[in-house]
Amino acid sequence: MTSIVQRHLFGPGPSNPYPEATEGLARPLLGHLDPAFLTIMDETCDRLRVAWGTDNARTLPLSATGSAGMEAAFVNTVHPGDVVVVAVNGLFGQRMCEVASRCGAEVVPVEHTWGTAIDPERVLAAHPSPKIVAAVHAETSTGVRSDIAALGDAVHASTDALLVVDAVTSIGGIELRADDWGIDVGYAGTQKCLGVAPGLAPFTINDRAFARRVERPQSWYLDLGLLGGYVGEAGAKGGGRTYHHTAPVAMISSLHAGLGRILDEGLENVWARHAAAGQALQDGLETMGLELFAEKGSRLPDLTTVRVPDGVDSAAVRRTLLERYDIEIGGGAGEFAASVWRIGLMGPNARPDAVALLLAALAETLGR
Ligand SMILES: *Cc1c(COP(=O)(O)O)cnc(C)c1O
Repeated sequence: MTSIVQRHLFGPGPSNPYPEATEGLARPLLGHLDPAFLTIMDETCDRLRVAWGTDNARTLPLSATGSAGMEAAFVNTVHPGDVVVVAVNGLFGQRMCEVASRCGAEVVPVEHTWGTAIDPERVLAAHPSPKIVAAVHAETSTGVRSDIAALGDAVHASTDALLVVDAVTSIGGIELRADDWGIDVGYAGTQKCLGVAPGLAPFTINDRAFARRVERPQSWYLDLGLLGGYVGEAGAKGGGRTYHHTAPVAMISSLHAGLGRILDEGLENVWARHAAAGQALQDGLETMGLELFAEKGSRLPDLTTVRVPDGVDSAAVRRTLLERYDIEIGGGAGEFAASVWRIGLMGPNARPDAVALLLAALAETLGR
């Protein structure tokens, strides 16, 4: 038998789940059309609306990981030849360009230096009349937070474009207000700050974007028109729930429980807990003489990027952390694979004890 290994998941995701989310996975399995499960599904959508900061009726957990949320966002909104301006300041902005392009968009990437936040003025200047403007709120590849409120204001003041936002590493970790910020379509993931295992993509789309959707998108599975009946639009009208695909019942129970934990603690308290843990970690790393990668003023608390010191073997350090301390941290992304570490303090890991453990293990490993 394989032995059970338990790790501190301090990388860019997945994070360790909240205990409530783990308990949710172990509940007796229900049928996906069982009334008891439908109640859990409805409550999960309600809880997701709170986490997103939205009143959107169409707010649901898609049955796949965050990247499927990205696919759903574009496959449902991009009509052939539509101009899609994408703010790119890291790996996930690049992925948005790739996905939008496969959906038939004319993609206009607006490249920013990795480690810096997106500049709304530059994004707006890229094209006079885009159909969609897309951006990543929290770039997990670089540890940068961008100001989506400012981008939303700029986009809606001067264009008719839809604003598509990646909130995979912001939801449940840092301030996120989809409606106030003018987010028309948003997608996220469960395994980062929501503190639930990977497997679902919390998704939200407002009426304006839904009205402009592609009637018969290339993807049957991610067709938001068909998914309405699955999460309950039809049910709300008394038409009953229809089968589209088998809901991943255990994962939705887990998300339901994880969100319950977050809302019990209070969303703003959860944001404050992530902010405090990230600040303590970043202060500690700098005290140790390490240099942070993301620009000051735009650093995410939940995902810290730090430069690997000269002469230090990045992979060897990560191996030691894993083997000696059961700590996982991430390498860098793209050209920074070997020169940056990515340290996540997400969900239940956004705690002072995790900060202390990480700093001590890193100091010992680096001999500082
Ligand atoms: C992790 C991540 C994704 C992709 O999510 P998966 O669950 O890995 O498919 C997309 N965007 C951002 C910002 C991420 O951090």
